[in-house]
Amino acid sequence: MGSIVLKQVTKSFGTTKVIPPLDLEINDGEFVVFVGPSGCGKSTLLRLIAGLEDVSSGVIEIDGQDATSTPPAKRRLAMVFQSYALYPHMSVRRNIAFPLRMAGIDKAEQDRKVEAAAKVLNLTDYLERRPGQLSGGQRQRVAIGRAIVREPEAFLFDEPLSNLDAALRVGMRLEISELHERLKTTMIYVTHDQVEAMTMADKIVVLRAGYIEQVGSPLDLYRSPRNLFVAGFIGSPR
Ligand code: ADP
Ligand code: MG
Repeated sequence: MGSIVLKQVTKSFGTTKVIPPLDLEINDGEFVVFVGPSGCGKSTLLRLIAGLEDVSSGVIEIDGQDATSTPPAKRRLAMVFQSYALYPHMSVRRNIAFPLRMAGIDKAEQDRKVEAAAKVLNLTDYLERRPGQLSGGQRQRVAIGRAIVREPEAFLFDEPLSNLDAALRVGMRLEISELHERLKTTMIYVTHDQVEAMTMADKIVVLRAGYIEQVGSPLDLYRSPRNLFVAGFIGSPR
């Protein structure tokens, strides 16, 4: 289902090479966290996987199929942004239903899917509100709801919690982990927060200037960081 494979993927903007040839395998159902300093290419990598940017060279396979030239809407991946990207003039219900409306799904089916997602995310009582009448955590849940209704092969999260205060972040982190437990859908999660990486990931990908410094489970990286750069990100005592 939701396996994602990158083979020798590169990305340049003009003459600047942001991603050198990069190979990566993400297994179906895995929770993979990308960490690395600001500007190292985490968002670019996510956008390449989502199809929001074209690769300069290389191949992206989704679910065993070459998806390198597949448009984003056909990749069956759902991206969740830190800015939520909600429509302020629409109710929560209409925000969550948006991708279903775009896909021409009938109203009854839209309502059924929106209500199921709202239940999972504890948003049932908020469906008729506007985003401006919600807390930051609730808005982030609406953005996740809009991803869930598409029933994607994988969720792509780009620093989804970085606009939330520390207390809310802990709660949302647990909610996203629970969502992964429940749906067992592949998730790729970009963060620069060590605690999120260590507690949420099955596999951590440590990026530096567009290349992969090390890949492994949180425990692997904690016990055997390849160098001080990795150790610094993982907070291991080396
Ligand atoms: P991160 O998400 O890890 O902070 P990004 O993927 O946003 O990093 O950016 C990686 C590098 O690519 C940065 O140097 C950034 O300036 C550059 N970059 C990203 N998007 C563009 C773009 N559309 N045009 C030119 N340069 C870009
Ligand atoms: Mg980024």
